[in-house]
Amino acid sequence: MNLAVAAPRVHTLSVAGREERFPVNRVFCVGRNYAAHAREMGKDPDREPPFFFMKPAHAVVDAAQPATVPYPSMTRNYHHEIELVVAIGAGGRDIPVDKALDLVYGYAVGLDMTRRDVQLEARDKGRPWEFGKSFALSAPIGRIHRSADIGHPKSGAITLTVNGQPRQSSDIDKLIWSVAECIAHLSAYEALEPGDLIMTGTPEGVNAVVAGDTMVGAIAGLEPIEVKVTP
Ligand code: MN
Repeated sequence: MNLAVAAPRVHTLSVAGREERFPVNRVFCVGRNYAAHAREMGKDPDREPPFFFMKPAHAVVDAAQPATVPYPSMTRNYHHEIELVVAIGAGGRDIPVDKALDLVYGYAVGLDMTRRDVQLEARDKGRPWEFGKSFALSAPIGRIHRSADIGHPKSGAITLTVNGQPRQSSDIDKLIWSVAECIAHLSAYEALEPGDLIMTGTPEGVNAVVAGDTMVGAIAGLEPIEVKVTP
């Protein structure tokens, strides 16, 4: 096949204990999926249906080893959001909750890095969040642990430190919408495909980082990630 311009690169993530890599298709993100974070964003954490936004595949940064992300342009308030990331291994649409985990390939620790000032201005003006959330290198993600190896974690500490100081600390059992419920809702809108990722939302404690800061994100049972912000 002759291509008119250079083909886009395939973005991939490391898999624990395996040589093959996980090819990233789409990145779906769940908004406000921990009650205490919804409150800190000035919103009511009532259990409304989950809502989603997306990042491009080239948001993904392989953070299996200590990684760096550049401080992005057009923001003065660049925030960390530590999140449980679900890697989809099998596709499907209209998946019932009790079958949803069958689609999961594995789990990883990730960061939904956010231009918070841009996001909130867009939100308050009724515009898309797009450039607050969906930009290159805005999703550092650690090694994927296959569900075949570790099962499906339902609880466990989720934490983020910046320069060794605690910033975010919660438990994934506080997800308003579980992984299975997120998959069920998402698959009603869009047929899921192998290679899709779902970032399941962040707990409270989101805050700014600046160039030179080092973030360490951890979820019990998964390899932690270390990500430094460069100028
Ligand atoms: Mn998020």
